[in-house]
Amino acid sequence: MAGDKKLIIGNWKMNLGVHESSLHLHKLADSVKTHRNVEVVLAPTMLALQTLSLQVNHRQFKLAAQNFYWRDHGAYTGEVSATQLRGIVSYGLVGHSERRHVFHESDKDTRAKVQAAIRNGIRPVLCVGETASERAAGETRDVLHDQLIGGLANITSDELPEVIVAYEPVWAIGTGNNALPTDVTEAIVSIRSQLKHLYGAKAANAVQVLYGGSVTADSAADYLALHEVDGLLVGGASLDAHAFTTIVEKAFQSAKGDA
Ligand code: PEP
Repeated sequence: MAGDKKLIIGNWKMNLGVHESSLHLHKLADSVKTHRNVEVVLAPTMLALQTLSLQVNHRQFKLAAQNFYWRDHGAYTGEVSATQLRGIVSYGLVGHSERRHVFHESDKDTRAKVQAAIRNGIRPVLCVGETASERAAGETRDVLHDQLIGGLANITSDELPEVIVAYEPVWAIGTGNNALPTDVTEAIVSIRSQLKHLYGAKAANAVQVLYGGSVTADSAADYLALHEVDGLLVGGASLDAHAFTTIVEKAFQSAKGDA
């Protein structure tokens, strides 16, 4: 694991309008405690980012973009760039399985986005993970390898510690079929060893690696207890203030245990 700080990211996906997002933020602000060794990040709809950035207590929560385009400016109708998000978000999701599978984002896109995020002072959260059929065919390791190489090709070892990797098996996202802790350990050990192979131990060990896939208030502690897991990327459960608050508390307890 990288350091003793846990990272919990709530991905609200395409849920909650601007007003509802503000209300959800207020609920979370009342219930989520601030802990020195837990960083809590919220990824609302793009539309609400600006409003939330003015309302949020930046010591309590950081903001993340769920997506962005890799060019900085220009004639790209409908897109929002990392340059435009500068100063509003601290993190940006890249290569989420819904982007890869619904919007056909390629490794070439993820690579350009990881680089754009770094160039604009935003920490990219590179999501990687195999589909059910890739897992059944024994291809998990190769898929993770290709997605890591594909996403990180333009990143130097000095830049690497700014990158966060989220292991998100596609079959576990939004399905309730969360991965077994042993599967998560195996996949993250493989991710870490591939990072070491590419960048050397020092840079690779500085990368935070998260698990994501149907995490709930009940299952969070099992993943956070794994030495390999530096935090969680939470989708559905992040829309439930009580569940998300519990997950943050579990992260605090596990970070305390590691300290
Ligand atoms: C996600 O959106 O990255 C995710 C893991 O979603 P869920 O927790 O709903 O599976």
